[in-house]
Amino acid sequence: MGVPLYDLSRQLQPLREEVLSALGRVWDSGAFALGPEVELFEREFAEYFGFRYAIGCASGSDALLLALMALGIGPGDEVIVPSFTFFATASAVWRLGARPVFADIDPRTFNLSPEDVATRISERTRAIIPVHLFGQCAPMDQIERVARAHGLAIVEDVAQAVGAKWLGSYAGAWGEIGCFSFYPTKNLGGAGDGGMLVTSSEYLAERLRLLRCHGMHPRYFHQTVGINSRLDGFQAAVLRIKLRYLADWVRRRAENAERYCLLFREFRLEGLIELPHVLPQAYHVWNQFVIRVPGGRRDALREFLHNRAIGTEIYYPIGLHEQKCFASLGYRPEDLPNTYRVSREVLALPIFPELTLDEQTAVVSSIAEFYHGKGILPAFDDRLKAVA
Ligand SMILES: *Cc1c(COP(=O)(O)O)cnc(C)c1O
Repeated sequence: MGVPLYDLSRQLQPLREEVLSALGRVWDSGAFALGPEVELFEREFAEYFGFRYAIGCASGSDALLLALMALGIGPGDEVIVPSFTFFATASAVWRLGARPVFADIDPRTFNLSPEDVATRISERTRAIIPVHLFGQCAPMDQIERVARAHGLAIVEDVAQAVGAKWLGSYAGAWGEIGCFSFYPTKNLGGAGDGGMLVTSSEYLAERLRLLRCHGMHPRYFHQTVGINSRLDGFQAAVLRIKLRYLADWVRRRAENAERYCLLFREFRLEGLIELPHVLPQAYHVWNQFVIRVPGGRRDALREFLHNRAIGTEIYYPIGLHEQKCFASLGYRPEDLPNTYRVSREVLALPIFPELTLDEQTAVVSSIAEFYHGKGILPAFDDRLKAVA
């Protein structure tokens, strides 16, 4: 049985009528760039999570860029970011002429290590961007303590973790600004690109609204040099509908994660591969289910699964500190040993909400076949079904 890494159509089909009718409403209104639908979504998004201000923009990457612009980050400044993350976390810093300073991760959670962050602070450090990777929050209380002690701002990269919590507080509420992405494969995905910024500061909210529209206020009077980064009415209409399903989708992702853990035990794979590590302070929203395959066998396992039509992905095959475009920053691969090691071991398995038990069993039994050969068919079933 083949299993796709992500089959978006299973989520889209049931919403077809509801979404098309909302898109028709936007079409008829002619309000395509910002407009009433975006304002409604901003309000509903803020209310849903208890954020004070929510400001829509064109993508998660733009959200990061706008956040740093609002904080006045520029040439001569340093911003501490993880190296084990999607490119946009660091490129936002680079594009403003500031210097991304890469910090290492906790190899169990893949998230920023507060201890390592502390060692990389200099006179020029202005901000930290913790990334809540794969849906689990970075240790925000500890990162906050480091930031406070040195007068640094925190910009949270919540692209993969909408609705996640750390010590009971939502991701995005810890920092000065939280940045969300509505890229289609995120837990709350639009029908194209989209992003959101959240803050509890009235000043920053004003600043962000100005910056996303060329620093223009009133019309054709420019207070500052911003960019063009608007959320569009069609995306807002889709996202308003999908927000109502988010909790259910996250619940199903969490059930899938729990079932994987049972299956890996049933197939005697514990000790051979490393399962995701969830910290007790975290409410994990499972945007990705990422295992570690030690012993240099990751790529062979991936190939084996690929030959059985089982989709996997590598987030991320190399750290940003090893990327060619950042060579001038002068990092050596081994400067961030955990990032280096983990990037050669990680493998993401299918975890999307509509994944079935049969499909998960096919994934794990194929991994068992890779390690144990054919013939191991443990008796599980009842306990697994009880999870669903
Ligand atoms: C997806 C993602 C982004 C960028 O979001 P876009 O909406 O695709 O621009 C930024 N950071 C992380 C960690 C992401 O996963």
